[in-house]
Amino acid sequence: MSNDPTIFEQIISGEIPGRIVYETDTVAAFLDANPLAPGHTLVVPKEAHERLDDLPDDVAADMWAAVQSLTPRIESVVDADATTVGVNDGSAAGQEVPHVHVHVVPRFEGDGGGPIHAVAGSRPDLSDDEMDDIADEIESIE
Ligand code: AMP
Repeated sequence: MSNDPTIFEQIISGEIPGRIVYETDTVAAFLDANPLAPGHTLVVPKEAHERLDDLPDDVAADMWAAVQSLTPRIESVVDADATTVGVNDGSAAGQEVPHVHVHVVPRFEGDGGGPIHAVAGSRPDLSDDEMDDIADEIESIE
């Protein structure tokens, strides 16, 4: 990863403009500049870590606490009916900014969007044995 500050670090430092809505010692949140819905907010660790797995545990906990606290506040401000929360974790998943960020996207009845199940391509046809193997392998990794 480059040592140049990410665009999100530049927003947090005030180097470039951003609509910051939340800030603690470890986490910040600001409105997405190209919102999918009114109130679309990005929750980020202040320090740039590229992937979820790179985050220190305490920062990951702080980030989730911020998502949990902000979601109802955002819903009430934009009068949303629900929220989709998601992370594009890695470029194959659509991550463009190499600085972990949680998308908090307000949702509205009849907004024409889909559930999180719509993000992947065609569904795999997995046998029970294949499912069991995958589950066992995931469980066995420390
Ligand atoms: P992702 O594809 O998950 O990496 O999402 C990156 C998000 O960052 C996109 O939704 C962009 O609209 C958003 N974004 C990019 N630049 C800025 C910026 N300067 N201020 C706020 N949001 C931004």
